[in-house]
Amino acid sequence: MKICILLRMRLGFVYALSLLGIGLGLDTTRTRLSGYRANLAALQQIEAQTPKVWWDRSHVSACRPKNIAELVAPVEIYLADPDKGFHFVVPVRGRLNSGFGFRRGWQFHFGLDIDLRTGDTVVAAMDGEVRLAGYDPGGYGYFCVIAHPNGLETVYGHFSRLLVTPEMVVKAGDPIGLGGSTGYSTGPHLHFEVRFMGEPVDVSALIDFENGQLLEPVLTISAETFKHLSQLHSAVYHIVRPGESLYVIARRYGVTVRYLIALNGLSTRSVLRPGQRLRVR
Ligand SMILES: [Zn+2]
Repeated sequence: MKICILLRMRLGFVYALSLLGIGLGLDTTRTRLSGYRANLAALQQIEAQTPKVWWDRSHVSACRPKNIAELVAPVEIYLADPDKGFHFVVPVRGRLNSGFGFRRGWQFHFGLDIDLRTGDTVVAAMDGEVRLAGYDPGGYGYFCVIAHPNGLETVYGHFSRLLVTPEMVVKAGDPIGLGGSTGYSTGPHLHFEVRFMGEPVDVSALIDFENGQLLEPVLTISAETFKHLSQLHSAVYHIVRPGESLYVIARRYGVTVRYLIALNGLSTRSVLRPGQRLRVR
């Protein structure tokens, strides 16, 4: 069943509001209500500028338009707006051990990796509704995807244990999983993504993971945000055939051996394996 994600978020809101109404004084409830209304207005603005995003309970990348850079008019999204009752909590405190971008030349890392110890509690970064939660053996391991009222989604991967299920409404700071190293991972860490229309964006400049602080509450999205995609889409790869050397491959693509070594994170002593994928441009 597919219904519009934005519509779905509104339903989530009604639920969240009813939760907020319980046990809170009327004044506080009223302030929070107006805060949520403001968030909704901001959401409608985003909705007007972007095509519909479909609600999907089976794919992490439910919506990932290839031409997103052309679709998006510049928009400012609040990661936190405490006056309006919308908070951001850093999901786990720790060293950022791998950033957003090309890794070893050919592999693109669409998130941020934060060091943790197995069993550390990981919390939701913002209020929202769990769109997807499950196990992805070759990639995220135990993971969840949370949709937020500001139009963003956050993805959390490699948990040792999941603490949420789809359709759960969570508040910023609520535990959602225990840190681990499940899926495609070489050691305990949190793989964290912030996504706009299903496309991961780099938020490393906005968050200080080590000190657990949001440095900048506003995320500006524009064509510039997605400039890495054109680079990624224009990348050219070569599958190494038996007997091929770096020299042969470099000559074939009109580049230097030194360029191939740098682009693929190799050394001059690296031995190529037949079937190995090399980025050549
Ligand atoms: Zn990662």
